[in-house]
Amino acid sequence: MLEIRDIRTSYGKIAALKGVSLDIREGGLTCLLGPNGAGKTTLIWTIAGILRAQSGSMTLDGEELTGLKSHTIVGKGVVTVPENRLVFPEMTVRDNLIAGAFSRRKDKTGVMADLEDVLQRFPRLRERASQEAGTLSGGEQQMLAVGRALMARPRVLLMDEPSTGLAPIIVEEIFAIIGQLRDEGRTIFLVEQNAHMALDYADHFYLLEQGHVTFGGRPGEVDHEELIAQAYLGAR
Ligand code: ATP
Repeated sequence: MLEIRDIRTSYGKIAALKGVSLDIREGGLTCLLGPNGAGKTTLIWTIAGILRAQSGSMTLDGEELTGLKSHTIVGKGVVTVPENRLVFPEMTVRDNLIAGAFSRRKDKTGVMADLEDVLQRFPRLRERASQEAGTLSGGEQQMLAVGRALMARPRVLLMDEPSTGLAPIIVEEIFAIIGQLRDEGRTIFLVEQNAHMALDYADHFYLLEQGHVTFGGRPGEVDHEELIAQAYLGAR
């Protein structure tokens, strides 16, 4: 569905992605694992059109995304749930959700119907609909970030480290939500440092190390313990 080919992205002279290729398959959960600084967030920002790739291509069902503006990419259904949630702290939960549907703001009836769906999915957000988003707990803010992305009617959800900074029990709750979205047949690209948790849910996974994809396959195909320990401990 989303094909990433030989993407190179740099910050000035610092090359962060050094020719990354991977496939995000329709109706599946594809995970990208890798240690700190491997380039995971850079890849999400590049796909989302926030950072510009120096070379390479990214296609959604054959249509080139490379070089498009970030709001155009959202309009095509490639929607990001950013790291550290980035909810609008002074806006209410309800207004944060409505903001997620900005690309269809003229379709008021559709937006209100989607808002109802999201509030049905996350009862905790319904209880707090009039509360300022900045006063939510970390886990609730993560739910809000997912809900806001769903308001954009995503064809592909790009999730950047949704478990960062959350207590283990909340991480389980967030992964249960991700598992539910996967079971509904949604297409998800999940970037995670929490490799063990992510591999319990992934259909496919890739390992990114220092800007290079060093492994791609299905969980169960390989001895992950060994692979991940080597990557994360820098033993290669
Ligand atoms: P983490 O898990 O810690 O978020 P990551 O895998 O998401 O790491 P990136 O944040 O994509 O990694 O960073 C990849 C590389 O690019 C790192 O070497 C980092 O120092 C560098 N980098 C990231 N942002 C910038 C920036 N704004 N300016 C310069 N270098 C940057």
